[in-house]
Amino acid sequence: MNEYLIEIKNLHKYFGKTEVLKGLDIQIQKGEVVVMIGPSGSGKSTFLRTMNLLEKPTKGEVYFEGTNIADKSVDVFKHREKMGMVFQQFNLFPNMTVLENLSLAPVKTGKMDKTQAVEKATQLLERVGLADKAQAYPQSLSGGQQQRVAIARALAMNPEVMLFDEPTSALDPEMVGEVLNVMQELAKEGMTMVIVTHEMGFAKNVADRVLFMADGVIVEEGKPIDLFENPQEKRTQEFLAKVL
Ligand code: ADP
Ligand code: MG
Repeated sequence: MNEYLIEIKNLHKYFGKTEVLKGLDIQIQKGEVVVMIGPSGSGKSTFLRTMNLLEKPTKGEVYFEGTNIADKSVDVFKHREKMGMVFQQFNLFPNMTVLENLSLAPVKTGKMDKTQAVEKATQLLERVGLADKAQAYPQSLSGGQQQRVAIARALAMNPEVMLFDEPTSALDPEMVGEVLNVMQELAKEGMTMVIVTHEMGFAKNVADRVLFMADGVIVEEGKPIDLFENPQEKRTQEFLAKVL
């Protein structure tokens, strides 16, 4: 029996001869909000992409609901559907309306029929405050609105977990708040979330647990109050001194 939604064991990732992830062990419970912080180039994006199987682990296990999804015999697409991913660049389909962006995957994968998908999409747009933009095209929206659409699109597949890779880093400062608010609401509703971000205020308020990654390893982890107020490791202290 596996009590975690996600359990990562001894995860290594090489690009050529460069070892980018150097043996990660991470457990995530259902409903947990885990924020990962760390310097640029430390492997945070690679970690998220490996969890989502956009990258193949070189070594180690990634258990999702008890199944090792790093195993060759596993259906990658079936598992990826259970993980919604939101990137720094919103990656919306430019030639489709907002509603079409949301309903495409659920219909294409056979998860919902058209009517169900449109109904779900409409509910989600309401939830992210964009009900009036259903027929708009992505280009006509602000960055903050596009990112909220991207979040809604990921939610349209009813994922078990949401992965966020610096979702507010490409936004103008005045739009960061509206995206973080949507994420905070999701967290309150009990969504399991793994979030890479430089928004330390958000991490303090919303995270159940903060992981500090540097140079391919988890240097330190803890409750936000402990990690931010009383970091134990020198590397964590130095990083926080720069960003706080
Ligand atoms: P972070 O998200 O923490 O900034 P990344 O996971 O993007 O870090 O990158 C970690 C390291 O892996 C960097 O040195 C980066 O250059 C390297 N890297 C990332 N993706 C690839 C790739 N597809 N091929 C080769 N090297 C890569
Ligand atoms: Mg990154």
